[in-house]
Formats: sequence, C-alpha cells, structure tokens
Amino acid sequence: MSTLFTKIINREIPANIVYETEKVIAFKDINPVAPIHILVVPKKEIPTLNDIKDEDAEYIMEMYKAIRVITKDLKIAEDGYRVITNCNTNGGQEVYHLHFHILGGEKIGLMRIKK
Ligand code: 5GP
Repeated sequence: MSTLFTKIINREIPANIVYETEKVIAFKDINPVAPIHILVVPKKEIPTLNDIKDEDAEYIMEMYKAIRVITKDLKIAEDGYRVITNCNTNGGQEVYHLHFHILGGEKIGLMRIKK
C-alpha cells in the first residue's frame, strides 16, 4: 500500500504543490503551524530518518536543494526559517514517508511543530 505522500505524488490526493523535480516534491501542509509550512518529500518511500540508505544520497541532496529554492522563491531565506524532521513515536511522526517541514513567515517559537 502506498503512503499518503505517494498518493499526493501520483495525484490521487490533491495538494498545493509548490515545487517538483524527478526525485522530490514539495507542497503546503494541510494543517499549517506557521504562516509558511511546506513539506519536502522524496519520491521514494523511505519510511523514517532511520531508514535512509547510502544509495538514497541523491534524494537527500535534492531535498536540501528544494529547501534552498523554495525558501528563496517564497522570500523567507534571508529572514530565516526552521527545518524539522520528526522520527517515530517520540518524535511525533504521523506520516511514515520521510519529509522535511519548512516553517517560516514569522519568528518560529522554540521547538515548534505540533499544534
Ligand atoms: P509528521 O507528523 O509525520 O512529521 O508530519 C505529517 C504532516 O503531514 C503533518 O504536519 C500534517 O498536517 C500533514 N498532512 C497530513 N495529511 C495531509 C494531507 O492530506 N495533505 C497535506 N498537504 N498535508 C498533510
């Protein structure tokens, strides 16, 4: 069974997509916790940070490139932003398909991610 984010990649579920390449997609979080809240997702079902393999290096590089391009496009690069990855239960992970949260558009409070 494919993950929720693979369904977004395959256009089975709608999302507000802001960036896409062969290896990465980025879209607005459905439940934003900051004025700008974007999820950056590899087009490979890597469940958690613990599961990244050496051969995934290109996906991870592309995710960081996406962050650089998106934050510049959305004009938050200079003021700053926060990037978070939640891992497993104690990290508060809900969707088991690796992703970065980009939070910006205001000063982000300490450790902010959950509502
Ligand atoms: P996690 O807790 O796994 O780090 O983050 C999962 C994120 O996915 C949450 O911030 C949640 O709001 C977001 N999310 C869950 N379902 C959907 C959806 O259907 N569409 C979008 N765009 N975001 C979703």
